[in-house]
Amino acid sequence: MANPLYDALLASAQNDDNIFLHLPDGSTVSYAQFNKDTAKAANLLKDIGLVAGDRLALQVEKSQSALSIYAACLMSGVVFLPLNTAYTAQEISYFLNDATPCLFVCDPASFKAYEPLAKAIGAECLTLSGKGEGTFQKRVQTMGDHFVAAERDSDDVAALLYTSGTTGRSKGAMLTHNNLLSNAQALCDLWRITKDDTLLHALPIFHAHGLFVALNTTLLARAKMIFLPGFSIDLVLDALPKASTMMGVPTFYTRLLDEPRFSADLVSNMRLFVSGSAPLLAETHEAFEQRTGHRILERYGMTETSMNTSNPYEGERRAGTVGFPLPGVHVRITDGAQGAEVAEGEIGMVEVKGPNVFKGYWNMPEKTREELRPNGYLITGDLGRIDEDGYLHIVGRNKDLVISGGYNVYPKEVELVIDKEDWVRESAVFGVPHPDFGEAVVAVTVVEANASSDKEGLKTRLSGQLANYKRPKAVFEVDELPRNSMGKVQKNVLRNTYADLFAKPEAVG
Ligand code: ATP
Ligand code: MG
Repeated sequence: MANPLYDALLASAQNDDNIFLHLPDGSTVSYAQFNKDTAKAANLLKDIGLVAGDRLALQVEKSQSALSIYAACLMSGVVFLPLNTAYTAQEISYFLNDATPCLFVCDPASFKAYEPLAKAIGAECLTLSGKGEGTFQKRVQTMGDHFVAAERDSDDVAALLYTSGTTGRSKGAMLTHNNLLSNAQALCDLWRITKDDTLLHALPIFHAHGLFVALNTTLLARAKMIFLPGFSIDLVLDALPKASTMMGVPTFYTRLLDEPRFSADLVSNMRLFVSGSAPLLAETHEAFEQRTGHRILERYGMTETSMNTSNPYEGERRAGTVGFPLPGVHVRITDGAQGAEVAEGEIGMVEVKGPNVFKGYWNMPEKTREELRPNGYLITGDLGRIDEDGYLHIVGRNKDLVISGGYNVYPKEVELVIDKEDWVRESAVFGVPHPDFGEAVVAVTVVEANASSDKEGLKTRLSGQLANYKRPKAVFEVDELPRNSMGKVQKNVLRNTYADLFAKPEAVG
């Protein structure tokens, strides 16, 4: 009997008394204990009637129990489907109808709203915790801690993960045992993750970053994890001296840099800081190194593939790049349409092939055909170029490309110039409809604390640095950029907000 992912991540740790989790209340959970909790949860899933191939959806705050449910799904062959805790009832209704899980687990506060939605698709709805006897946590206590893992094929789907919905409706990505295992193995090798490591885990676990990149690598290496409910600055400052690695999104690093109590002393035991999910500004990179002596390792991934590329562990971690393909992964830059490779160094569509590439989109065969080529390359939707040393630069998303007067404008190029202004903390550049140019470039800026805006000066300085068609036709100040829970700037929100900007000439800012 084999179950590739569960066997590698957990089965062989059944009698391992070493610590797996450090919890915020100071308690710890060993690998052996976690395995028992997992078996109990798997028995409960069986009791409820779930069999291999069924789906289990879950929208709960980050908790140890949620981890056990994930592991129980792997053990029993049930497809794990975690949902963003920010989703509202309307969004949950969409995901439940799309994915048709047999069981939906939620937090007590949302049970009333969600139970009818689950019932409507014939699914059972359980709260994870709460006072009642019927909660997942109460029922699990009555279960036995022995469970024979279901047999699974490496090509069977282990998890259904919805994309962040940054460019449109979220799509369910079907990830197989082999996708997840090959990725975890490659990352453990590349980042030298061993059982001596302690990972500071402050990411959400409904996303590939926190669930697969961070958790699966920890399990595979039998490492330890300081499991925080989220990125709370006090908890993070307290945990850093006890950790050896941290995986984060760029906003984690900017928040640390904003914190006066954050110092090099706190991170003298750390050996690796990783950043991904959204671009890390070169400025953040340099400021972090100056403050701590640590150079952040930036990497690039997506729901459909978990991880594609990484800057080197040893060797130059080049700011503004996402490094090289993981072992076994191929990256090429094409024209997007026919899949013809562009000339060396040119910008084009980033395409990825390898054992990490998903099986396809759930319920979306046409979308799968559009994005997954018969030769195995996934059209990522990201634009990039490979420099002379082989480092991949992500220059933005295809959907964010602005075509103004027939010219291509890559928002990131403009943002990099605007961000150099002393008074600008960060900026976002995007296109809106324009009667003459088709689209016009617009920028929003966040003004640095203790600085004042200098939009007029900016306009003059940009004229010396960027061609006319690349320069913003309007610049606005905003308090903050709209971001999703992974810190990605939501350009679609900006485009919608400013969609009518040039419809009435007098509205131009
Ligand atoms: P959707 O596909 O629904 O529009 P999404 O692409 O944001 O949403 P995810 O799969 O969570 O959903 O995010 C993957 C994307 O995040 C990548 O395609 C890329 O655009 C971006 N990304 C991830 N890491 C980096 C990075 N280091 N630098 C730049 N962009 C990154
Ligand atoms: Mg995407």
